[in-house]
Amino acid sequence: MNNFDLHNHTVASDGLLSSHELIALAAKNGCDAVALTDHDTTDGVATARKAASGLGLRFIAGVEVSVSWEPNIDAKSTTLHIVGLGIDEQNSVLSAGLHSIREGRLKRAKLIGDDFARIGMPGMFDAAYEFAENKTMIGRTHFARALVARGVVSEVGKAFNRYLSPGRPGYVSHRWATLADAISWIKAAGGVAVLAHPGRYKLQKVEMTQLLGEFKQLGGQSIEVMTGSHSPPQFKEYAGRAREFGFLASRGADFHGHGESHYEPGHVPLLPEDLTPVWTALP
Ligand code: AMP
Ligand code: MN
Ligand code: MN
Ligand code: MN
Repeated sequence: MNNFDLHNHTVASDGLLSSHELIALAAKNGCDAVALTDHDTTDGVATARKAASGLGLRFIAGVEVSVSWEPNIDAKSTTLHIVGLGIDEQNSVLSAGLHSIREGRLKRAKLIGDDFARIGMPGMFDAAYEFAENKTMIGRTHFARALVARGVVSEVGKAFNRYLSPGRPGYVSHRWATLADAISWIKAAGGVAVLAHPGRYKLQKVEMTQLLGEFKQLGGQSIEVMTGSHSPPQFKEYAGRAREFGFLASRGADFHGHGESHYEPGHVPLLPEDLTPVWTALP
């Protein structure tokens, strides 16, 4: 009973599957429990919970909160993702916080559209918005899919490399929630705060040490170790960081959809046995 997959997306954010389809896939893959962790929204949680209950699969309500963080006042800010697990999705503090982030997403998306128009590609906001099934949650992945649909690039990854990443036309820097706010909203909703895919952030080693210390000090309890967003060397590196800081360890595919994700739900390697899994802290 340890095939817990605690990081997955649906069409409520930038995934490709419905809640029902995701839960059915997790069940088919032999998961013992599955969490839904859409970006900045819990809109898919109720239907996912119902689908899981219908299949007798343990379900964990979650969210992945977008955060801006900098190691010091002069430094460039880095976008971080903080997963909340075991949340009450109806909590008003969490809901209000997520709502404010999604409003920021809409403003950013319009600016991204302006950026594309400047380089001779008008209509990109509308094109991306079409790809957002949840009209209150638009992200860069929807732009990436629109670029593929227009034949500008052959796959989503290339859309990020050429257009949607820092320094590229089509990238608009954005102020997300603070780390302190994200953790406090998750805690207000009764959840456990987990630093998502730490290996993905472009931070120096000393900056990562600082981030892990700050995260812990603010009430963060866990980091993702075995995630579809880490390479095998990063599995080892962040298992070491979990031991060093005494963090609970999390595991999840970060599944978005077939053809876009390295691992399906339940298919990421298991956690090293000496680490304490984050689900021991969930109700
Ligand atoms: P956003 O939160 O709207 O800025 O978009 C972030 C999302 O974009 C991530 O959660 C991933 O789903 C996706 N993403 C970021 N970088 C890449 C990449 N290089 N290739 C594919 N998807 C990416
Ligand atoms: Mn995503
Ligand atoms: Mn993420
Ligand atoms: Mn994710």
